[in-house]
Amino acid sequence: MRDRYCVIGNPIGHSKSPAIHAAFALQTGQDLVYERCLAPLDGFDATVGALVAAGCKGANVTVPFKLAAAALCGTLSARADAAGAVNTLTFADGQIRGDNTDGAGLVRDIGVNAGFALGGKRVLLLGAGGAARGAILPLLGEAPRELVIANRSRASADALVARFAGPGRLLSACEFVDLDGPFDLVVNATSASLAGAMPPLPAAIFTPHTLALDMMYGNQPTPFMAFASGCGAIARDGLGMLVEQAAEAFAQWRGVRPETATILERMRSNSL
Ligand code: NDP
Repeated sequence: MRDRYCVIGNPIGHSKSPAIHAAFALQTGQDLVYERCLAPLDGFDATVGALVAAGCKGANVTVPFKLAAAALCGTLSARADAAGAVNTLTFADGQIRGDNTDGAGLVRDIGVNAGFALGGKRVLLLGAGGAARGAILPLLGEAPRELVIANRSRASADALVARFAGPGRLLSACEFVDLDGPFDLVVNATSASLAGAMPPLPAAIFTPHTLALDMMYGNQPTPFMAFASGCGAIARDGLGMLVEQAAEAFAQWRGVRPETATILERMRSNSL
């Protein structure tokens, strides 16, 4: 029997993860099945239990279950623990291990795919939800000069600053109206794009050298990307992050890292 993996979410029909993992498996010669799994909103734990009982080897977790997944795990990686959110589950030896590969995927997309070196840069992270939390430790790991977290609810941004503060880390929180530019990198980790909206941002945070990355992806540029482009910045969507976080999970499960550039290229040209 082929090893089984899946992505758990609600809704889940839109997920591109099965296509990405199937392409990784083909490319690396791994014999596995990767499916979508719709969990009831009040039934995440039971769904995972059924997958484990059926011999499933691992699962990715998406909206709205990343926090529930963290609570369910017997062991957490340091980055999942710091994020308080899990997007990758590994079922082995009767244990459920949790990791968060979103932030590593983001950093790899920025560094490798976009060719942007984070070291010494002034970085702005918009949002303080699960995706933002997962991004902070990997971003700080690249030694930016400064990381500012701006969120609609200031208290959530303050809480993240308190949680991730440490020696040598220039980390601060603010509200959108108090943003003081310019920044080298602006990452939109708010879910505003899902509703076709964007946070109220001053144009002065962008320069022609600013990389403006929206974690959201779709057929059209998001309002954040359109605004950033209009201000002269370099806009990028979250498709590369999606592919890279998947590669990180795949490498953990299978012990082989897939090559991502061609997969990303095929997704951008709609041939995957
Ligand atoms: P959460 O629901 O955990 O967090 C939402 C965040 O967005 C909060 O900080 C919230 O602020 C803020 N927000 C929501 N609406 C608005 C608005 N209208 N204006 C300003 N701020 C707003 O979501 P996630 O963190 O899980 O996801 C965030 C985004 O990242 C989504 O678009 C998701 O699709 C994307 N994502 C992409 C991935 C990829 O691989 N490309 C991986 C993971 C996520 P407040 O605290 O005030 O409510």
